[in-house]
Amino acid sequence: MFFDYQRNQEGSITDFSYTSAEETPNRKPRLLVIDDEESVCNFLSDFLSKEYECLTATSADEAFKILEEEKFAIILSDINLPDKNGIELARKIKEETPDTVVVMISGKADLESAINAIRAGAFDYIQKPFDLDNLEVSIKRALEHHLSLVGKRKYEEHLKRLIEQRTEEADHFLWYDTLTDLPNRFLFEDRLTQAIEQARYNKTIIATVLISINQLKRVYSILGTKHGDAVLREFVSRVKKCLSPGETLARFDDEFAILMVTIDREQQVIELIEEIKSALRKPIKLYDEEILLTISAGISIFPNDCRNAQEALKNASIALEKAKEEGGDNWLFFTSDLTEKSLNRLKMEMDLRRAIESDEFELHFQPKVDISTGKIIGAEALIRWNKPKVGMISPADFIPLAEETGLIIPLGNWVLRKAFTQCRLWMDKKKGFTVGVNLSAHQLREKNFVEKVNQLINETGVDPNLLEFEVTETILLKDPKESATILSELRELGIKILIDDFGTGYSSLSYLKSLPLDGLKIDKSFIQGISAKDQGGAEFIVAIVTLAHTLRLKVVAEGVEREEELNLLRLVRCDEAQGFLFGKPMLPEMFANFWS
Ligand code: C2E
Ligand code: CA
Ligand code: CA
Repeated sequence: MFFDYQRNQEGSITDFSYTSAEETPNRKPRLLVIDDEESVCNFLSDFLSKEYECLTATSADEAFKILEEEKFAIILSDINLPDKNGIELARKIKEETPDTVVVMISGKADLESAINAIRAGAFDYIQKPFDLDNLEVSIKRALEHHLSLVGKRKYEEHLKRLIEQRTEEADHFLWYDTLTDLPNRFLFEDRLTQAIEQARYNKTIIATVLISINQLKRVYSILGTKHGDAVLREFVSRVKKCLSPGETLARFDDEFAILMVTIDREQQVIELIEEIKSALRKPIKLYDEEILLTISAGISIFPNDCRNAQEALKNASIALEKAKEEGGDNWLFFTSDLTEKSLNRLKMEMDLRRAIESDEFELHFQPKVDISTGKIIGAEALIRWNKPKVGMISPADFIPLAEETGLIIPLGNWVLRKAFTQCRLWMDKKKGFTVGVNLSAHQLREKNFVEKVNQLINETGVDPNLLEFEVTETILLKDPKESATILSELRELGIKILIDDFGTGYSSLSYLKSLPLDGLKIDKSFIQGISAKDQGGAEFIVAIVTLAHTLRLKVVAEGVEREEELNLLRLVRCDEAQGFLFGKPMLPEMFANFWS
């Protein structure tokens, strides 16, 4: 069927013109003649074939078979068929193809049946013997009726669709924000309520995050509504890309809300916020303008600090206000008693994030000496945070926090790149000069860590045989099997593996045998105070060196500050030493003094 209508300016339908598939412009309307007398069928189909495409059937059965496959505008049927009477036929056709118009053929004798057939749904009847003019007029009338039925049905279907569509649109306005098409506050609260119910039942954690764009007011007042809206839409599209399936982003006028239902640690919330922040780092371009957006965020966690959706939103809002007060570009978890300590920690964490972005770190190097020759043969890379207005901060004060928060990964990457690059520079100046790098548990467990290291080796052009990775016993003990695998892979690249702070941890020498290692660094607490004159305190060192050598491991002593300590180490054939006696950690430029 083809069906066209035109709309006037208000969009209402003014004109319905229609054609049905049975009578498309290129096709004549279709007509089925049913009569048990073949001569009648032939006569009628011949007579009508100029204007109609005619098919014939000589029984009701045959007719229904045809009707299963094809559609007709008109059915012209004998009232008395051998296998069915016209009343039943008319009723059945009306039920199955309501647009098909049935016209009965009747003799004078069965006129009453014809009238009954009309009651049952037939449109008209024609009498035998046929008056050809009447026949033509009747069929034409039947066709007009068919077309009007088609038109009416189409119009009704169209109206139904229109009503459905308008209802959907109205529903949509009720739950969604028109500008961004995001869920609005009502829908968000509804989802949050459901999520909380589920979380209560499943004993899971959910986070409600409220976000505000720090520059939103300014953007609108400077750019105007149209361009302001465009910026807002771009913001939404970037934030959406950071979300995982199942996370809901909603717009509440000036603020945005995110519902995270599948978290198992608060850290995941921070990761999402950081991802959004980094998605905003690229300015939004609008004609000649470049707009840089930053966000503030407040977070509340169910079940820790709220019991229902309203409290979750209220507390996230309190946290957001605090975050804004603290200068924006900032996020805060809601806590009923933000203690001094956790506030400081949060502040430090925020500072650390900013420091990574603004490159406030330096990599210092501390010389390592070959005890038998007294020559400098390498250096350990040690990170320093040169915080503006504060000065140098020791890694002991920020590495643990970086580990807790996962920031150790970007920080560690920075150290690796810097150390590899420096090692590459020294390769040409001083043959065989090694560089030691400290690794954290997080780094070692990072997916594709070995691959990443390998890529960095290729990028920087460093000789991996000159690299020494220092890991502590505690890291290895967490998962000895997995650690061994990763360390083996690193060693296959050529990198040497040293155990750091040896003696402070487990110190089970037997497990050393099972690990792929190249050496040990004896912790400075065992070194300080030893002397060749008083060998009493040195049994531990003697034992370690002896055992390490039988395992073909080299031994490095760290924290060597005095000549006596070095003398004893030389006596027990410790291989290398590092400490203030030879040099403090310093910028690599200072190493020029050592070369001569
Ligand atoms: P560590 O690996 O045991 O590093 C040796 C620490 O001892 C360094 O402290 C160094 O400055 C200090 N030291 C060196 N010689 C002497 C000495 O003669 N006497 C005394 N008293 N101390 C000496 P630093 O630089 O404060 O580093 C502390 C710890 O921070 C390091 O201990 C290491 O565990 C960690 N760290 C430093 N840089 C990095 C890094 O890039 N990544 C990771 N994951 N950890 C790092
Ligand atoms: Ca170390
Ligand atoms: Ca150490």
